[in-house]
Amino acid sequence: MAYVCELGNGRSIYLDNQGTQTIVTLTSSGPGQQQQASSSVQTGDWNSPPEVYRTSEGAVIKLQTAQGTHYVRVEGSSVRITSEFPASSSSQPLQTQQVASSSAGTMPPMQPMQPMEPMTMGDMQMSMNPMQMRMGNMELRMGSPPSIEKPSVARQFCNQCGASVKPDDRFCSSCGHRLSD
Ligand SMILES: [Zn+2]
Repeated sequence: MAYVCELGNGRSIYLDNQGTQTIVTLTSSGPGQQQQASSSVQTGDWNSPPEVYRTSEGAVIKLQTAQGTHYVRVEGSSVRITSEFPASSSSQPLQTQQVASSSAGTMPPMQPMQPMEPMTMGDMQMSMNPMQMRMGNMELRMGSPPSIEKPSVARQFCNQCGASVKPDDRFCSSCGHRLSD
């Protein structure tokens, strides 16, 4: 099993235990960009789900394994393993969410697309039917096209093929259909 922990500000940590390795994947996403970096550290088999704490420097992951307790420090994009909980002015436990282990191992699994449900990513909101996108104060909507101006009433159309005909035409010049009065 793998675990995902949201750090906030579009950053998340994806944790997977493969053999005696712990794969730590850091993902940060902002508008129009996504960055991802994976590290693997030797920890042993997990005995219990990982615990993640937010610290002033970044985050600390606590791993209980067959080989003992390990701490993984995440600072920026660097991942380091330590044997003791790093001294920090503050540490706040974060929620971890269990996810299915991906076959690739290091890639965070894609969330299944649910196009009918409104989608929220940070301050961006998107929904379909009509297509609507909201980002901060910006709103974008695509739906019914702007109504097309009707041609002037003086023009008439063939009721067979739709070609435009003159009011005094007896037959359609396009398809030859006899025009009713
Ligand atoms: Zn016609």
